Amino acid sequence: MRAVSVNADAIVVTSLMWQTTATAVRSGEETMLIDSPYFPDELELLPAVLGQAGFEPSALLATHGDFDHVLARLAFPELSLGVAESTMLRLQRSPGEAQRDLRDRDHEYYVTRPRPLALGGTQSLPVPGKLGLGGEELELHPAEGHTGDGMAVFAPWLGLLVCGDYLSAVEIPMLGLGAAAAEYRATLARLAPLVERAETVVVGHGPPSSREGALRLLEEDVGYLDALERGEQRPRLPEGRDSGRQRAIHQENLSALDAAARR
Ligand SMILES: [Zn+2]
Repeated sequence: MRAVSVNADAIVVTSLMWQTTATAVRSGEETMLIDSPYFPDELELLPAVLGQAGFEPSALLATHGDFDHVLARLAFPELSLGVAESTMLRLQRSPGEAQRDLRDRDHEYYVTRPRPLALGGTQSLPVPGKLGLGGEELELHPAEGHTGDGMAVFAPWLGLLVCGDYLSAVEIPMLGLGAAAAEYRATLARLAPLVERAETVVVGHGPPSSREGALRLLEEDVGYLDALERGEQRPRLPEGRDSGRQRAIHQENLSALDAAARR
């Protein structure tokens, strides 16, 4: 796990698994932690790592309901987890999904955990909407397309956008369960003006980007979606994202579009 300060009031912790990010943002005395690292030792160390940098979370957020983004309660079991209404609906419609996916992945990598994931304290937040933090307000924007649920979190006083699983420098757009290319495109269009307002963009997986870097990734992602929707089997993948794993994700995307077309 690696911790990097974005500025005096924001720090990004990156998991060794899938470069998954967790971001602490602060206003005055209040700190919000967005998303989570994966490994049990990373979660166990997280309060100390954040504490050493002067961050003590008073609440948690998850950008979407995929299991790798909702693990912060394993580090801070006493705090409540805020999610978009769309994510709350997903959790209610498929109870135990996150726990099952986590267990499957843990079994695959022989990972054991001291306690199971409990999502009982989850709270639904209106999106689009605003959420007070210290004297400031976080903006919550809908971000669907990677999954059928989710939100991007913008901290205007820090020029920081935490967008979930979009605009990654290490992963091509991934159309997950219940996702659609049109929704994905709508989210990219919605993110563009937020990126323009941002100094730093923190993505769900991979290193944070500057405004310019994120705008370039956004353009590459639109280009990739064009190729995907043309049904190209072997499109040119963006630089730095042309690997066997990303090719496999592309095949999964083609299958997801196929399945969506037949619905
Ligand atoms: Zn993810």
